[in-house]
Amino acid sequence: MSEWQWQWWKEETSTLNQTKRADDFRALQGLWDLIRIGHEDYLRSPLFPVVMSVAFYFTCMVPFTIFDLWGKNWNWIHKYKIQPEKNVTWPACRNAILVILWNHCVYILPAAIGQAIWTPPTPLPPVAPTMTEFVLEQVVMLLIFDFQYFVWHYTHHRVKFLYKHVHSIHHQYYSPFCWVTQYLSPLELITVGTYTTVLPWVFNCHVFTTWSFMIVNIIISVEAHIGYDFPFALHNWDPTGIIGGAPKHDMHHMKPQTNFAPFFNHFDKAMGTFWPGLQAGGIKNKKYIEFENNKKMEKAKKKY
Ligand SMILES: [Zn+2]
Ligand SMILES: [Zn+2]
Repeated sequence: MSEWQWQWWKEETSTLNQTKRADDFRALQGLWDLIRIGHEDYLRSPLFPVVMSVAFYFTCMVPFTIFDLWGKNWNWIHKYKIQPEKNVTWPACRNAILVILWNHCVYILPAAIGQAIWTPPTPLPPVAPTMTEFVLEQVVMLLIFDFQYFVWHYTHHRVKFLYKHVHSIHHQYYSPFCWVTQYLSPLELITVGTYTTVLPWVFNCHVFTTWSFMIVNIIISVEAHIGYDFPFALHNWDPTGIIGGAPKHDMHHMKPQTNFAPFFNHFDKAMGTFWPGLQAGGIKNKKYIEFENNKKMEKAKKKY
């Protein structure tokens, strides 16, 4: 670390120290200390968030690739498939993996190297964020990200030129599986990456919150594409019906003019683009059948 970087780092940490209030209870302090102490050299590197995100994404792929390729014979996992009749084949996985690797080598790697050269080391405040700050910032950023992506996604389905040249690659798969999460055009990948990076910066988040937001984003995006409706998934426990989950996004791949918001349901409901998802085993529940019947009636009324 050069002299100016060291001076900047000392100032940064001392300012954050001054903001620490003695009466703050920081439930995350133990975890933050565990992550931080002794690993400062790696964590300060501007490359760390990139390496962490890429490593986490590829790790998430391992179990679901195994389930997809061999799970057809394992009823304990196959019964949760949303489109059980659709087979995920190795050539389909390989095709998606090659595109993802290409995007990572051609776009993400140079951006990461540029960041490593021009960005100063990440400040690691000794004090963790409070639980309120942490949760509130995560929720607000997820809601904003959901809105930003809704607008981007809606536009890229409604404007033919944008759909054809940017978003259509993601829709090559009618039935999504884990690798489809990042089976994106470079422009879409860069847009999503920019939203995820800029939001914590705008909110001046603690690095722990920033990194957690990146991980939460990957978990939610991967879950939306796994093609399984697990009983423990958050959307099955949400009494408000605001969380979309895998069934909702699976339906977007089946009916591409519906369900544009990636995480939540409220924008789609407000814009009339919501369509409920199928449940594990491809089952249409009571609500789905009612919804489908209402849509059919609306369509018939419009005709006459
Ligand atoms: Zn998708
Ligand atoms: Zn789409």
